[in-house]
Amino acid sequence: MLFSSISHATDYSVSHNPYEDVNFNTTLRCLAQLHDHVNNNDPRVSSYDDAEYCAVTWMDYAGYYGNDTGLLVGMGSPKQWPPEDYGATAIPSLDNIKFYIPGAEEGGYLKDNITFAHHTHSTFMTEYIESAGCSTCNGGSAAPLTPTVGVPSNRLYETEQELVDLVNELGGWPIYNHPSVGPNTGLTGYKGIEIMNTFMSLRDQKDNEDSAGTGTRLTNARALWDTWLETVSARIYAVAVNDHYGPDHTVGVGTGGGSVPDDLVANDIDQGKIEVLLTVQDLEAFESSVRAGAFFAVHENETASKGAFPEVTNIVVGSNSITLTTTAGNETVRWIANGSSVGTNSFTLSLFGLDAGLKYVRAEIDDGSGRITYTQAFELVSPSPVHHSGFGEMGR
Ligand SMILES: [Zn+2]
Repeated sequence: MLFSSISHATDYSVSHNPYEDVNFNTTLRCLAQLHDHVNNNDPRVSSYDDAEYCAVTWMDYAGYYGNDTGLLVGMGSPKQWPPEDYGATAIPSLDNIKFYIPGAEEGGYLKDNITFAHHTHSTFMTEYIESAGCSTCNGGSAAPLTPTVGVPSNRLYETEQELVDLVNELGGWPIYNHPSVGPNTGLTGYKGIEIMNTFMSLRDQKDNEDSAGTGTRLTNARALWDTWLETVSARIYAVAVNDHYGPDHTVGVGTGGGSVPDDLVANDIDQGKIEVLLTVQDLEAFESSVRAGAFFAVHENETASKGAFPEVTNIVVGSNSITLTTTAGNETVRWIANGSSVGTNSFTLSLFGLDAGLKYVRAEIDDGSGRITYTQAFELVSPSPVHHSGFGEMGR
């Protein structure tokens, strides 16, 4: 019986390593925020500067213009880019922020999401697009929207797939915002997915306080990421964001509001961010690294100061293994493939003798105090093209 189970074991090699072009000896680390509503808000930009970010998205909602239900009225103004034309805090007056990132949180009511307005982040896109409206959405109260005069028909969308396709067409990098709000199946073209969103984390916390264990937004988001990695593409990258709960958010009793705990403390905010590995600190290099997946999604904890999350100092992909190095070297590493654990507590994962059918493996590096750094997925291929030939080199 033992042999029959071993006979199912499969050897793999990595067919795509998102960090393969990173020189870990020289790389520049850029803390970035892709989804907080910093648009035209100087105190907010300054708070990110003080929190040692190197880049923030110049964004707010877009695509709602003409929505007569009162939802987000006034937030659908045409895209403000470049920020210097709209009164942005001057970069030279900032200490840490080196550039702004274009983007917006897109989405009015969609014909395939008729009970809520689902959101898609159009990272890197500078053009304005808009929901064409939906006469049957939200029980009919949401629509029809009236498209902004002058928005051409090829900048309007009706379904989420049309929205994602349009963002890709116009040079954007679409991210699925807070996916637990309404997971979709069958969508293609998303490049990123929020697996951590401070707003959603706080909503989970509130639900758990009100009714133990019912806060499942982040769990669901991570499960969806694994499903997409397995069934859609191993090159859909994990993103962590703040979404209204960045470093300038007011804390104290009475500051939470209805859907999050009403006694926010400083450590509740600024928990979601990405660390991007750059050759130079500019937008062009940043976009190149994000599109390649050369970044980590970071979930800070709720009990300590920010910035002490696990730092990955090297990633070596061998012919049949992956080895991580961190500054502390004492974290728990969880290796996840096709949504299940394939090993814990080793900084090296052997790709020999794993279950059949694996499409990817990824690592979660947990410091034991709630800070977790997520690597992107390594795409796997089998049978190994260099079957067992690595043994002779293992002593190096
Ligand atoms: Zn948002």
